[in-house]
Amino acid sequence: MTSKIQALDNKHHIHPFSDSKELHEINPREITHAEGVYIYDDKGNKLLDAMAGLWCVNIGYGRQELVDVATKQMSALPYYNLFFKTTHAPAAKLAAKIASLAPSHMNKVFFTGSGSEANDTVFRMVRRYWDLKDKPTKKQFISRENAYHGSTVVGASLGGMGYMHEQGDLPIAGISHVEQPYFFKDGGDLTQEAFGIKAAQSLEAKILELGEDNVAAFIAEPFQGAGGVIIPPTSYWPEIKRILAKYDILLVVDEVISGFGRTGEWFASQYYDLEPDLMPIAKGLSSGYLPIGGVIVGDKVAETLIDKGGDFNHGFTYSGHPVAAAVALKNIELLESEGIVERVKNETAPYLQKRWKELAAHPIVGETRGLGMVAGLELVRDKDTHERIAPNSKAGGICRDFSMANGLIMRPCGDTMIISPPLVITKAEVDELMEKALKALDETAKHYNLM
Ligand SMILES: *Cc1c(COP(=O)(O)O)cnc(C)c1O
Repeated sequence: MTSKIQALDNKHHIHPFSDSKELHEINPREITHAEGVYIYDDKGNKLLDAMAGLWCVNIGYGRQELVDVATKQMSALPYYNLFFKTTHAPAAKLAAKIASLAPSHMNKVFFTGSGSEANDTVFRMVRRYWDLKDKPTKKQFISRENAYHGSTVVGASLGGMGYMHEQGDLPIAGISHVEQPYFFKDGGDLTQEAFGIKAAQSLEAKILELGEDNVAAFIAEPFQGAGGVIIPPTSYWPEIKRILAKYDILLVVDEVISGFGRTGEWFASQYYDLEPDLMPIAKGLSSGYLPIGGVIVGDKVAETLIDKGGDFNHGFTYSGHPVAAAVALKNIELLESEGIVERVKNETAPYLQKRWKELAAHPIVGETRGLGMVAGLELVRDKDTHERIAPNSKAGGICRDFSMANGLIMRPCGDTMIISPPLVITKAEVDELMEKALKALDETAKHYNLM
């Protein structure tokens, strides 16, 4: 039976990243409320949200402190812009707080409404930087295949998703893509170590092809999120660092997923010992309670932009929105004062990773991988040849449907099943997650007569 809300939705709402026609037939699930790591639907079903919404509800659902701070800020100043030689306490304090947690050479923040807008900001800021350095030919961006950097024209172009590029003649000019460090898919007979070096060296080949004087920046997620929780081999980032040090090219580390504790460090740049020039952020910044993003700007770029730049002709009506900024600040303060990031690092992430590894023994699992509070596994028919279960990655969707029916939100990326739970998940909740994930794998295997 179609509920009233479903009927309204079917009639008037176009969903993001969805086949709306298909959705009309199956009806979208109405989510009504949430608490801790659980979401609830209108039929009374309780689901463990192992994706933290879309990788963002780091602090978990239902934190009254965030509601209270939003209410207070709405009463005092619900909105004011930052264009007219004005500021307000939430934006200034949040920028300072972010700078205190970021790598020490990063001390300034430009605010946006989302991660996509953060990457659009990166695109303009980087080109502006090179203009100010009197190197106006340095315009090209190098990104990677299967990267995700958002869904605006620049975000989708920087991203390396073929199925996005197909719609709307993307990527735009000035952006090229090199190899991703996806060992399970592309490793062949190489060792992890050798493959990591090889994937990184595709960057150097591209720099030489385009010419150093034409390349502005390299952008990458520390580990790929939407691409399928792809964790680079340990040799990858050191080799990228070596290459970037050799050429005069900026490093943009997209920390939209990895920022604010997901790796057990405040930023994955600290986990991987990277020195980014720019860091787009969003998602965990406010734990998704309100939309806000930004770009953390390293001293090198900030000094040029500010000392020589004059007006930077870029910004958004909602840049540094006072209510979103106040909520983000409180969110970070709670993550800090409650020791949530440390607990991830020392306790819950090691436990999650240990338990997740157990799934590698399952008959249809070709590989498990993960770090901090993200993990993925590869669905296969044959563990040795990596032959997939069904054409067109159908098995991923089937596994997701079984998982949802069992009360667990696990997401498919093609044939990869991924999780990214709220950072507040307890060990007991990890056990529940594992039990449900295992059940979904069993049911998927039985569905295809593989068990
Ligand atoms: C989600 C995401 C974005 C885009 O953020 P939006 O807030 O959806 O615009 C950019 N980069 C990465 C790595 C992401 O995961």
